[in-house]
Amino acid sequence: QLSERLKRVGEHVPKNARLADIGSDHAYLPCYLAKQQRIEFAIAGEVVKGPFQSAERQVRTEGLTDIIEVRMGDGLDVIRAEDHISTISIAGMGGPLIAKIVERGKIKANLAERLILQPNVHALAIREWAEQNGWKLIHEEILEENQKIYELLVLEKGTMNLTDQERLLGPLLMHEKSATFTKKWTRESTEWKRILQNLPDSDRPELAEKRQELEWKIKLVEEALQ
Ligand code: SAM
Repeated sequence: QLSERLKRVGEHVPKNARLADIGSDHAYLPCYLAKQQRIEFAIAGEVVKGPFQSAERQVRTEGLTDIIEVRMGDGLDVIRAEDHISTISIAGMGGPLIAKIVERGKIKANLAERLILQPNVHALAIREWAEQNGWKLIHEEILEENQKIYELLVLEKGTMNLTDQERLLGPLLMHEKSATFTKKWTRESTEWKRILQNLPDSDRPELAEKRQELEWKIKLVEEALQ
């Protein structure tokens, strides 16, 4: 049974896509989409041997070796021009790691039409990267599963200019302001306030900077939640 989180990622993979799922682990997402005949071809990329072998096993057991190729390699290195990849998905990692993978592989990323990125935390790093590298948000989602809150970002080529508040919270999520969004940011700002209160009372520059950053983020969140 595929997690709701990965099902949501799958919903944004266009019909008959040629998909590269990076950090695929058991290759659950490409297997699910292939069984539903929703993709033409997929690469399941893995950089770690254990998950790479689990992916190979899964694809073989499901009888999907004609559609899914499991490849070992770092990030987007597993993609070749002749694969004609149209969609890249990277799910279940921190935003900074996802941003690092697309930055390192940005030439390969540009071969695709759509990026579906699902950070567990710090989606900000991805929005920042997208803004600086010619990608724009066409869709954002926030969802809760097993008491964890996840964000999902769908990018296509284009330009966008975000405010600090939009970069932190997500321009589309901020506008929608769902109950899950309110829950996530209420939780985060409560945590920031706790950290702020526990910061030692000193005017060391690094502490003053930290205090300022926290106050700034709390202000951005509180304004958005009003
Ligand atoms: N995508 C699946 C999901 O959302 O459930 C698996 C997520 S799992 C937490 C993250 C996977 O990414 C791990 O299997 C890890 O080995 C892989 N990974 C981390 N960095 C990677 C990289 N630079 N290139 C390819 N895979 C990577």
